[in-house]
Amino acid sequence: MDLLKKRIEEDGTVLPGNVLKVDNFLNHQVDSLLMDKIGAEFARLFKDEKITKVVTVESSGIAPALTTAIHLGVPLIFARKHKSLTLTDNLYTASVYSYTKQVSNDISVDKRFLDANDRILIIDDFLANGQAVKGLLEIAKLANVSVAGIGIVIEKSFQKGHVLIEKSGIRLESLARIASLSDGKVTFVD
Ligand code: 5GP
Repeated sequence: MDLLKKRIEEDGTVLPGNVLKVDNFLNHQVDSLLMDKIGAEFARLFKDEKITKVVTVESSGIAPALTTAIHLGVPLIFARKHKSLTLTDNLYTASVYSYTKQVSNDISVDKRFLDANDRILIIDDFLANGQAVKGLLEIAKLANVSVAGIGIVIEKSFQKGHVLIEKSGIRLESLARIASLSDGKVTFVD
């Protein structure tokens, strides 16, 4: 998506550890009009997939997931992050290691919000090592829902997540694919 790539070039900053900071349009201040266009693009890509719900993880996934859900005309569910839980009877729960924060959290979805008739689209802001997506796929499996695909706003293609999803055979659509963040410079996959 050219508009998104241009915005990353203009406003993204590369931090140590291969982290791209995009907090003036995606991760802190949110460019609502850009988010609307991102949602429209995901909805266009997945329009024939009979999606019943969009699923993401709080908090940075919520903005693009919400605009996607609006364009598809379906509800949004965001998995909530917790410290490890003991009482999980009414929840589908998975453990996720966070790349940027370097801690593990449980993420969960209330069992009331997913059932075997659902066909979900997973949306997230970034794909790095694929741990957040892996956690959401575990929750999908526990809930016995089918997964139509995964939509990522910014994929860091040089990290492990891309290959992990490719191996699962699930459709992956990333709107911007970054080949490298070396020397403080963003290089896109052609
Ligand atoms: P993964 O689980 O794929 O390793 O990482 C995905 C999550 O980590 C994303 O939801 C995002 O919140 C965060 N993340 C990973 N890499 C980056 C990055 O380069 N920049 C920012 N802002 N967040 C990142």
